[in-house]
Amino acid sequence: MTYDTVIIGGGPGGYEAALQVARLGGKAALVEKGPLGGVCTNRGCIPTKALAAACEVTDSIVRSREFGISVPGYTVDPEAVIKRRDRVSMTMRKGVEKLLSGAKVDVISGQGRLVSETEVAVNGETLDGRTLVLATGSEPTSLPGLEIDHEYVVSGDDAASMPRIPEDVVIVGGGFIGCEYASIYSRIGSRVTLIEALDRILPGEDEDVSAELHASISKTATVMTSTKVESADREGKTVKADGKDIPADTVLLAVGRRPALPEGIDDIGVIYDKTGVQVDRMMRTSVDNIYAVGDLTSGMRLAHVAYAGAEAAAHNIMGREREADFSVVPWCVFTTPEIGRVGVSEKGASVDVRVGRADYLGNGKARCMGERGGFFKVVVDAQKGTVLGAHIVGAHASDLIGEAALAVKAGMTARQVADTIHPHPTLSELFRQACLDASG
Ligand SMILES: Cc1cc2nc3c(=O)[nH]c(=O)nc-3n(C[C@H](O)[C@H](O)[C@H](O)COP(=O)(O)OP(=O)(O)OC[C@H]3O[C@@H](n4cnc5c(N)ncnc54)[C@H](O)[C@@H]3O)c2cc1C
Repeated sequence: MTYDTVIIGGGPGGYEAALQVARLGGKAALVEKGPLGGVCTNRGCIPTKALAAACEVTDSIVRSREFGISVPGYTVDPEAVIKRRDRVSMTMRKGVEKLLSGAKVDVISGQGRLVSETEVAVNGETLDGRTLVLATGSEPTSLPGLEIDHEYVVSGDDAASMPRIPEDVVIVGGGFIGCEYASIYSRIGSRVTLIEALDRILPGEDEDVSAELHASISKTATVMTSTKVESADREGKTVKADGKDIPADTVLLAVGRRPALPEGIDDIGVIYDKTGVQVDRMMRTSVDNIYAVGDLTSGMRLAHVAYAGAEAAAHNIMGREREADFSVVPWCVFTTPEIGRVGVSEKGASVDVRVGRADYLGNGKARCMGERGGFFKVVVDAQKGTVLGAHIVGAHASDLIGEAALAVKAGMTARQVADTIHPHPTLSELFRQACLDASG
C-alpha cells in the first residue's frame, strides 16, 4: 500500500505529525528505532521535570519552618526518586502509544533509511509514501578531549535516564540543559560544579535574568564562568579546568546538539547544513514531497516547536495549506527559580523600547508563598506601546509566560494588558503590574 505519509522518528515532531495526518483522514506509518516519545518523553523534558518536581518537595521541607511547620529530618532515597522519574516517563510513553494505536497509525519498530523520494527501508522491507516526514531529532555534541562515553562523560540524554544520582558532578555548559541539571542535582544531594566558557550562564537570556539565576544556583552549587574545561581524567575521576583538578564521579557534557540526519539523506538531495535540514514555512524540504520537523530542522530545539512544525506539515500533506509561524515562541528553563522568556530583549530590540518591571517582592501571592526573589520584565515599543517581549525569573515563570506570549502574538499594548482585570492575589498580577510600569 502507499501511505499518505511515512514518518521517520517517533518523538514529538514525528508522533504529532502522524496523529494530525490521521485526524485529517490520512493513513500514516511511523518508523521509530527506540522508545516512542523521543528525547522529550524518555530522555529530556519529562524525566528532568519529574526530577525537578522531587527537588520542589525537598525545597518545601527545607523551608517548612518559615511556614510554622516543623519537619524534624528528612532523607532522599535516590533509588525511589529515579523510579518515580521512570514511572512518569513510562506513563507518558504509554499515552503516546495509545494515541497512535487509537489513530490507527502503523508503528514500525526499527531504524529507517531513506531509499528514494517516496520510500523508506526498515527491517528489510520498504514502505511507500506519497510524502515522507523526517523527524529524527538531534543528538548531543562532544568537546575535543571530552568525548561522551555514556559512562564517565555523559550527555543530557544519558543523564535523564541514568540509574543513579551522582555524588560529585561537573557540568560542562551553562545553557538551559546544564543549568537545569545544576539546579536539580545540587538540591538533591550532589556536589555540583557548573562550568561555562562564556562570561555568564544562560548567555542567551536577558542579563538581569542570568545574574539572578547565577546568584540562586551559587547557593547550592559552584558556578565557574569564563572557564574552559581542558580534559577529564576517567581513572583519577577529576576534571581539569583553568589548571585546577576538580573531583567528579560524573561529567555531564551539555555544550550543544546537532541534527541527527537519517541515513540516505545525501542520496536524495535534501539540503541541510550544520544547523539542520532547511525547510520553508510549509515545513517542506528542498525535495517537494519530503517534509522535516522538530530538532532536525534549524529552528529552536524545543518540543512545542516540534509540535507546531508537525501540525503545519500534516495539514500540507493532507492538502490543507498551512504555514508554520515561529515568530513568537515562549522559552522556559526549569531551574530554581524558573525562567520564562518570549519575544525580544531590551538589548535585542530593533526599535526604541521602554521597559516595565514588577518584583515578586511586592506581589501578594508571592509573599504568601514565601517567594521574595525574582521579577517580571516587559519590553514595550516606545512609540506604539505594544508588548514586544517578556522576561521572567521567579516561581512559576513557566506557567506565567504563556499569557505574555499571547499578548506579544496578538500585538496587544501594555495599556491593554494593564486595563485587563487580573485575579488577586495571583502571580499573574505581576504581568499587569509590569505593563502598568511600562505605560507610565
Ligand atoms: C535534557 C533535556 C531536557 C529538555 N527539556 C525540554 C523542555 O523542558 N521543554 C522543551 O520544549 N524541550 C526540552 N528539550 C528538547 C526536546 O526534548 C526536543 O526539542 C524534542 O524532543 C524534539 O522532538 P523531535 O521529535 O524533533 O526529536 P526527538 O524527540 O529527538 O525524536 C526523534 C526520534 O527519532 C528517532 N530516530 C532517529 N533516527 C531514526 C531512524 N533513522 N529511524 C528511526 N527512528 C529514528 C529517535 O530514536 C527519536 O526517538 C529537552 C532536551 C533535553 C536533552
